[in-house]
Amino acid sequence: MTNAPRLLDKLVSLTAIQDVELMEFSLLKTLAEFIRPQELSILKLDRRGLPCYQLHLRQEQYEILSENFSLSEEIFTALDIVHGTNQPFRSRLDSGNTLIAWHVQQTKMQNIYLVAVTTRELSKLDSHMIRGLLQIYRNFYQVLIEAQRDQLTGLANRKTFEEVIQKIYNQPVPATDPVPVDRRSIFDEENVGYWLGMVDVDNFKRINDTWGHLYGDEVLLLLSQLMQHHFRESDFLFRFGGEEFIIIVRSDTKDNAKRAFERFRSTVEIHPFPQVGQVTVSVGVVKMDPEIFTATLLDRADQSLYHAKNKGRNRVDFFDELLAEGVVTVPEIATGEVELF
Ligand code: GH3
Ligand code: MG
Ligand code: MG
Repeated sequence: MTNAPRLLDKLVSLTAIQDVELMEFSLLKTLAEFIRPQELSILKLDRRGLPCYQLHLRQEQYEILSENFSLSEEIFTALDIVHGTNQPFRSRLDSGNTLIAWHVQQTKMQNIYLVAVTTRELSKLDSHMIRGLLQIYRNFYQVLIEAQRDQLTGLANRKTFEEVIQKIYNQPVPATDPVPVDRRSIFDEENVGYWLGMVDVDNFKRINDTWGHLYGDEVLLLLSQLMQHHFRESDFLFRFGGEEFIIIVRSDTKDNAKRAFERFRSTVEIHPFPQVGQVTVSVGVVKMDPEIFTATLLDRADQSLYHAKNKGRNRVDFFDELLAEGVVTVPEIATGEVELF
């Protein structure tokens, strides 16, 4: 076990990470150092068994694939067997290399696998170490996911909000090291982008006062379920505070973003909440922009929400429209370059 101190160091840095994606980078890097494979991947298949995510390492180059990619027959067969037997599976490739696949874990949405292509057979010690590292990954994955969730609704909590915003602005692209690279292209386009909606339950105090806190909590839970049902997997949902939620919608046009928020508002309006009856929400929406501080964006969403409340509740208001109407104003200095606090 001459590698033990080095492995321990790696474990310390692996478990210091607070983010699933970075932990996966780190796991791959650690494994690659010890088993020196030709290729190494973390592969995720969705509920239909289709590949939805691959973090791939070859010749010290990392690559993330998350859309429109396919896998070789050999890999599909290997994953199928691994899934069926719950044991690692190895096969010899035409190239003479060995393909080895492990099942890492099954989540609600995905099956996660580790796949290696090596020039040599793995030693018993290698296999043992990989099994141990995968177990650490599983345990730690659970801890990270738990820490990011709101206990009542299961939505992402406020703590993860900043991280998600940073991820949206700096989506990692292929790199030799897991350092996110700035990729702004989608924010330079006229319409394509992300819209941030601040959602607040109307007259929620009255619901609590009339029916009690337990019913209030039930409303929040049902509301979060309606939200999860209504918005796409590529959208981001947070419970931001008591009866306040943030929804980030990716859309090709503003009209589509508007439709998504508007339809959600009316879905809530017509949904019969047990005992409580009708519940409505108001929403203030602002288009996301990496040049504008997040605190400023939130403030603008909040101002728009305030107007939605003032104009009678159960409505969606967009900041840019309020600005055009002259109902709200922006201070002269508002960009990331000059705004300091
Ligand atoms: P408005 O339409 O202006 O938003 O009116 P409102 O009554 O919803 O607004 P207000 O901010 O006055 O009240 C929010 C209430 O939400 C107050 C608080 O008791 C309640 N609340 C906050 N968090 C929770 C929670 O987790 N569970 C329950 N049951 N109630 C909560
Ligand atoms: Mg509120
Ligand atoms: Mg409210």
